[in-house]
Amino acid sequence: MIQTLAVIGVGLIGGSLALALKEKGVVAKIIGVGRSETNLKLAQSLGIVDEWTTSLVDAVQDADVVILAVPMGAYAEIFAEIAPVLKEGAIVSDAGSTKQHALKAAQKHLPKSVHFVAAHPLAGTEKSGADAAFKTLYQGHLCIITPTEETNAQALLVIEKMWQNAGAQIMRMAAAEHDALLAAVSHLPHLAAFALVNAVQEQKTDTFNPFAFAAGGFRDFTRIASSSPIMWRDIALANSEALVSQIDRFQDELQVLKQALIAGDANKLEQSFSSAKTARDAWLISHGKGE
Ligand code: NAD
Repeated sequence: MIQTLAVIGVGLIGGSLALALKEKGVVAKIIGVGRSETNLKLAQSLGIVDEWTTSLVDAVQDADVVILAVPMGAYAEIFAEIAPVLKEGAIVSDAGSTKQHALKAAQKHLPKSVHFVAAHPLAGTEKSGADAAFKTLYQGHLCIITPTEETNAQALLVIEKMWQNAGAQIMRMAAAEHDALLAAVSHLPHLAAFALVNAVQEQKTDTFNPFAFAAGGFRDFTRIASSSPIMWRDIALANSEALVSQIDRFQDELQVLKQALIAGDANKLEQSFSSAKTARDAWLISHGKGE
């Protein structure tokens, strides 16, 4: 049981965590904090938080557990502001999409008297804000925890239990490994979706709208291009090294397809498409992602 939980950033991720924990009855009081009063009032009216404030200091000073669920570019500033008022022994955690950046920011700004545990739930949608939150978001999804040698063992268990209570399955991993993996399966797909929409948009003229001819395939591929630009700006910058290397790989694959097209190499195209189809179909089956 967590007595007082402060959720910094009551959007899709923080709001869904709060709703899931309330449903399970494992938190006595949830305080939401953010910058938008409208969003926080909405969060309270939706039963996501018990109390809200726009003051980080007021929100965290009595909290036993503090969760950051804001864009990653805000971490340093928030850690620096809450550091002087956190209770001794308080547990600070996050849900950010890159983990080396989170650990570095926490190490730089948080005092030794509190415990930081880095976490990343592998669940989400392209929607933002408190009204996008729902209590089953984490059900059956992985939550990756990236402990270091300095991570307090008790705090680690509290955060793992919290995510289990929200419905997630826990996996521990090194932060560098997490960032490299997520660059491939999450961060690159988002950049590819943004780039594809821009490439089509650039072909639009006053008299011609290519989007008028886009159908289900375009919609499926580009769903994630509707995600928050600020959040994705911060994720891309926080994981730039791994992401650049994944962009290189992707460009190599596109280059192979381009050469096959120029050469009219039907076998190469079919081989490449078959290999991708086999890999994706196997993933759908083995991970219960059936469509
Ligand atoms: P969101 O936009 O729905 O919510 C973020 C909230 O933080 C908003 O209410 C916003 O007002 C508030 N906020 C922004 N800057 C702030 C600041 N400086 N101080 C206080 N509050 C601030 O975004 P989200 O989808 O909930 O993402 C939150 C975090 O979770 C991000 O770090 C993201 O990388 C991570 N994440 C997102 C997903 C996803 O699919 N959306 C999945 C896993 C992890």
